[in-house]
Amino acid sequence: MTTPLGTPDRPVRIAIVGAGPAGFYAAEALLKNKAVTSMIDIFNHQPNPFGLVRDGVAPDHQSIKGVTRIYDGILANERVRYFGNVTLGTELYHADLKANYDQIIYAVGAQSDRRMGITGEDLVGSYPATAFVAWYNGHIDYSDRVFDLSHPRAVVIGNGNVAMDVTRILVRAVSELATTDMADHALAALRTSGVREVIVLGRRGPAQAAFTNAEIKEFGELPGVEVIIDADDLQLDPLSEASLAANKIAVKNMDTMRGFAARERTHAERRIVLRFFASPVEILGADGRVVGVKVERNALIADGRGGLKAQGTGEYDVIECGLVLRSVGYRSIPLEGVPFDEKAALIPNVAGRVTAGAGGVVIAGEYVVGWAKRGPSGVIGTNKPDSVATVASMVEDLAMLPDAGAPDAQVVVDLLAARGARPVSYSDWKRIDAVEQLRGGAQGRPRVKIISLAEMLAIVNS
Ligand code: NAP
Repeated sequence: MTTPLGTPDRPVRIAIVGAGPAGFYAAEALLKNKAVTSMIDIFNHQPNPFGLVRDGVAPDHQSIKGVTRIYDGILANERVRYFGNVTLGTELYHADLKANYDQIIYAVGAQSDRRMGITGEDLVGSYPATAFVAWYNGHIDYSDRVFDLSHPRAVVIGNGNVAMDVTRILVRAVSELATTDMADHALAALRTSGVREVIVLGRRGPAQAAFTNAEIKEFGELPGVEVIIDADDLQLDPLSEASLAANKIAVKNMDTMRGFAARERTHAERRIVLRFFASPVEILGADGRVVGVKVERNALIADGRGGLKAQGTGEYDVIECGLVLRSVGYRSIPLEGVPFDEKAALIPNVAGRVTAGAGGVVIAGEYVVGWAKRGPSGVIGTNKPDSVATVASMVEDLAMLPDAGAPDAQVVVDLLAARGARPVSYSDWKRIDAVEQLRGGAQGRPRVKIISLAEMLAIVNS
């Protein structure tokens, strides 16, 4: 007779791919489940854990990063092992996970950016905002990127919270950023930045903006920065006005922006210009470098689904600039051996159970959480109920799992060693973390991020 899965004698062995918030909330839900005993291995591409909390959350929003204390407690749990610096499809394969785990959770987020599909998108000087964010946050894969900040004007495309973050970082006084954990290379570049004006382009109106109120309000609180909005852009059409009844955030945003428009001009040294009803139709270049953005004026029309969409009016103008940050959303990318729905840019799933394509049959033992499950939306906390829901599906499925015998926890360790991988364990990470904090403490900062794999490995091997 076999021992039931999920009991202390035969714990369910679970692999989580990705050490960002969604992966940690899944691990937390599993560890908190008193009815099921699980052993969890977390694999992560970067040596360091914490995903977008470390590499996405803006350095001047330090308090949000405090959530890593909860994730750290999960890593310290004796039922959890951490394997940083291990990439699925490079050192570890889908077949390895299938052979060594009862259940797999993909928690890989959205590692790329959405394309706009306009001419000039790839000119030098035009970059996805996601790359700029990863660079200033010290993501090891982005630390050698170069952003030319010499031109006085930058254009940020998009009206989401990432657009808010990159705009703020471009104009905030470096003395304020210097007390954060922003990567040193970014601080150095911003210190000599010539950017004085950032124009933020929303393709729809102010009532349709995706940013939240705290983020737009913060623009008005930046010392030495003026916020400019054309009051005419704040006159709402009847459909936008009606939409406010169901959108409290939009009401607050309108109040905040009307407040900005009513302010006396201060002619501060740096400024943010919020332009609405403006779609970039081409990024203009000379000698391969960005020199401007051609913008079409939009009108709003009903989209047939109860919302409003932008439609070009045929009226154009050109904004001269040297830097364009395209902040039109993240995008998930396919994983080795795992189904991917290209159209929705997701791992296809039903209630977190991975399916063989959109609408396909459920693949036993494979699950997804976070942005790879539902798309790149929501704040860090949104991932908690989302991961809890996937774990509920996993627990429900336990009784149906085939008994493949008790997997040996050592096999994966030996396999990675045989492939020449150098996994970073939790105790290795704590050493890196301690060095970062020590260096930060000496400068009155939370940490000085180590931005190269070689240096991280030198610390753990020393
Ligand atoms: P987002 O919230 O989805 O915003 C994307 C923006 O890009 C929207 O304004 C969208 O306009 C615009 N857009 C899309 N395609 C476009 C095009 N072709 N031309 C012009 N504009 C286009 O995405 P995000 O800013 O990347 O943020 C991702 C998630 O992370 C969001 O849930 C966000 O709230 C969250 N986040 C939160 C914080 C925070 O809490 N402080 C910080 C960063 C990120 P339409 O509305 O017209 O489509």
